[in-house]
Amino acid sequence: MKTINIFGSTGSIGKNALDVIRKNKKDFKVLGLCAHTNIDALYAQIKEFSPSYVCVVNEESAEKIKNLSKKIKLFKGQIGLYEFASINCDISLMAISGISALRPLMINIEHAKKIALANKESIVTAGNFVLNKAKQFKTKILPVDSEINALYQLFTPQSNFSKVYLTASGGALFDYKPKDLNKVCVKTVLSHPTWRMGKRITIDSATLVNKGFEVVESHYFFNLPYENIDIVIHRESNVHAFVEFKDKTLFACMYPPDMRIPISFALSYPKRIDALQTPNFRGRFSLSFEPLHAKQFPLLDIILKGAKRGGNSLAVLNGCDEVAIEYFLSNKIKFTDIYRAMNYIFSHYKQARLKALDDVFYWDNWAKEKTKEYLRAL
Ligand code: NDP
Ligand code: MG
Repeated sequence: MKTINIFGSTGSIGKNALDVIRKNKKDFKVLGLCAHTNIDALYAQIKEFSPSYVCVVNEESAEKIKNLSKKIKLFKGQIGLYEFASINCDISLMAISGISALRPLMINIEHAKKIALANKESIVTAGNFVLNKAKQFKTKILPVDSEINALYQLFTPQSNFSKVYLTASGGALFDYKPKDLNKVCVKTVLSHPTWRMGKRITIDSATLVNKGFEVVESHYFFNLPYENIDIVIHRESNVHAFVEFKDKTLFACMYPPDMRIPISFALSYPKRIDALQTPNFRGRFSLSFEPLHAKQFPLLDIILKGAKRGGNSLAVLNGCDEVAIEYFLSNKIKFTDIYRAMNYIFSHYKQARLKALDDVFYWDNWAKEKTKEYLRAL
C-alpha cells in the first residue's frame, strides 16, 4: 500500500484521481488532501478518505474549516501549502492549476518518492529547474497529461523513433470562422467536445495554447528537439499520441478520453490497475486524422515561437495567458482579447535568460502586470 498526497484534490484531475483510488483501496492510502477554496467538496473527501493531513490554501476558506477530527493536522495559506509539500510520502499528485503549482512542486520533489505531474504550467515555465531537481533528488516524475502520458507509455528503452505526433481535438471552437470568434461567450468556449476539465485548460484548448504547452512538455520530458514533435487533428480524442520509428512504422496509444486512465497509469506505474469499470470501447468508434497548420492558430504559433526562443519567453506567455483567461472568465473582456493580449505581450517583452527559479516568478509577475495594464486600457 502506497501513501499518496493530492494537491488540488477538489479540481477535475483531483476528483478523477480520488475515483481511481476509490476503486483501488488496497493499493493506496490517502495521506493528505489539499484544496484552495472548495470547502464543501473537501469536507466530503475528508469524510470518505480520512487523510492525516489537510491543507486549505485560500486563507478565508481555511477559516471556515471547523470540527476536524483531532487526528487530522490542518495547514493553512501559502505557508501551509509549503509545509504540506514537505510531508514525506510515496506518491504525490500535483494537480493544482497554473503557475501556483511551481513552488510547492519544487519543495515536494525533496519529499515524495514519485510525483504524478498533471500541472503543465510548471514544466512550460520552468522545465529545466523541475526536471534537474527531480534528477538531483532521484524523484520519479510521471506525466499525467494524456498526450505526454501516452508518449511515456509508448517509449521503451530500445525506442529508436524519429518523430512523435500529439493529437488535438481542436477544442470547442474548431469549426468557427475567425471572424465569428469575436462573439463567443464563456459558456461556448467551456463546452469542450470530448474532455471535461477545469476552466483554464478548457479555454487553452479552444485557443490551442494547450497544444503548444504539450509540445513543450514533450520536449522536456523526452529531450526531443521541437522539429521532431508534430501535431495532428483528431477530433474524437481516442488516440493521444503516436511515435514514428525510423522505418516509418507508427505506434499509437489509444484509450477513451477519460483522465482516469493516464492518472491510474502514473499512480500505479510500473504496475497497471483498474481505471474504469466499463470496458474500453463499446460498439462503434471512429478514428480520423488530418494535418494541423500551426499558422492557422495564432496562439499555438506564438507558443511554439516562444518555446524555440526559450529563456523567459514561456514564463511571460503563460503569465499573460493566465490573466487574460481570468478576465475573460469574469466577462471583463471578449474572447478575442485573449489573442490581442498575447500578441501585445509577445511583441513587448525583453528576452532574458532564466538563471534561477526566482527569475521565472519575476517574469510571470511582469507579464501579469503588463497584461492587466493592457487589458484595462482596451
Ligand atoms: P481545476 O481548475 O479543475 O482544479 C484546480 C485545482 O487546484 C483545484 O483543486 C483548486 O482548488 C486548486 N487550486 C487552484 N488554485 C490554487 C492555488 N493558488 N493554490 C492551491 N491550490 C489551487 O483544474 P484541472 O484539474 O483541470 O487541472 C489541474 C492541472 O492539471 C492544470 O495544470 C491542467 O493544465 C492540468 N491538466 C488537466 C487535465 C484535465 O483533464 N483536467 C488534463 C491535463 C492536464 P479549489 O477547487 O478548492 O478552489
Ligand atoms: Mg492534454
